[in-house]
Amino acid sequence: MASWIEGRVVENIHWHENLFSLKIEADIPQFTAGQFMSLALEINNERVARPYSFLSSPGQSPLEFFFYVASDGVLSNALVKLERGDKVILKSKAQGFFILDEIPATRDLWMVGTGTGIAPYFSILGAEEVWQKYDNVVLVEGVRSSKDLPYMDLIEKISQAHPDNFKFQAFVSREDFPNAIKGRIPASLSDGTLEQKVGLTLSPSDSQVMLCGNPDMVKDCVETLKSRGFEKNLRRSPGQITTENYW
Ligand SMILES: Cc1cc2nc3c(=O)[nH]c(=O)nc-3n(C[C@H](O)[C@H](O)[C@H](O)COP(=O)(O)OP(=O)(O)OC[C@H]3O[C@@H](n4cnc5c(N)ncnc54)[C@H](O)[C@@H]3O)c2cc1C
Repeated sequence: MASWIEGRVVENIHWHENLFSLKIEADIPQFTAGQFMSLALEINNERVARPYSFLSSPGQSPLEFFFYVASDGVLSNALVKLERGDKVILKSKAQGFFILDEIPATRDLWMVGTGTGIAPYFSILGAEEVWQKYDNVVLVEGVRSSKDLPYMDLIEKISQAHPDNFKFQAFVSREDFPNAIKGRIPASLSDGTLEQKVGLTLSPSDSQVMLCGNPDMVKDCVETLKSRGFEKNLRRSPGQITTENYW
C-alpha cells in the first residue's frame, strides 16, 4: 500500500477568491502526465485527503496543482490558506488512467475541461508524447467568467511552441470575452459551433476526445458524442471518449 510523504508549499497563487494554485516541493516517485495524487492535511486531528490532478508535467519541480474552493468544502478551504513553508501530505504514489497510454493514436486529440478540469491537460501538453502521437491537439476550456482563465500565459507559450498543431478554444458562459464562445460545450458539440471556430471536424475515425471536470458537462458531452457515432474508450473495447469526473 502507498505510504504518505511530506511536502512543503513553495507558493500559493490566489487567482481570485475561489481559485488558487499551489506549488509544492516533494520528493515523489515519477508519475505519468494526466495522473492525480492524493493530497492531505490534518484537520481537527483527522487526516483529510482528496485526489488532485497534476498540472505540472513529469520531471518539473516544484509540483503544481490548480484548485477550486468548494463552498463548505473541507479540504479545499484549508488548502487555500496554506502559505510558503507550510506542510502538505501527499500519497507517495500517483494514480489514474487519464493518460495518453490509454488513448489510441489518431489525427486529432481534443482535450475538453471545465474549471480546474483543465489541469491534467497542462501536464500532458508539457510532455513530449502528445506532440508525437497526434497531428492536431485542441484544448477546450469551459468557465463561467474570464477571471476563471488564469493560465492564459501558459496557453500562449504552448501556442508559440506549436503554432501549426495546437489550438485553444475558451467557452465563457456568463460574459462576452474576445475569441471565446459564449455558451456551453455540449451544445456546441451538437450545433457544430466548436468545430467551426477551431477549423477541425470531429469524427470517430479521426478524433479522440478527453473530457474532464464537472460530471454534468462530461455526461452531456458523452451523450452528444455518442449520438455522432463516438464510443467510450475502454480497455476491453477501444473507443474515442475518455473521461475523468471530479465529483
Ligand atoms: C481524479 C480527480 C482529480 C481531481 N483533481 C482536482 C483538481 O485538480 N483540482 C480541484 O480543484 N479539484 C480536483 N478534484 C476534486 C477534489 O478531489 C475535491 O473533491 C475538491 O477539492 C473538493 O474537496 P473539499 O473537501 O473541499 O470539498 P467536499 O466537502 O469534498 O465537497 C465536494 C463538492 O465540491 C464540489 N467540487 C469538488 N471539486 C470541484 C471542482 N474542482 N470545481 C468545482 N466544484 C468542485 C462538488 O460539488 C462536490 O460535490 C479531483 C477529483 C478527482 C476524482
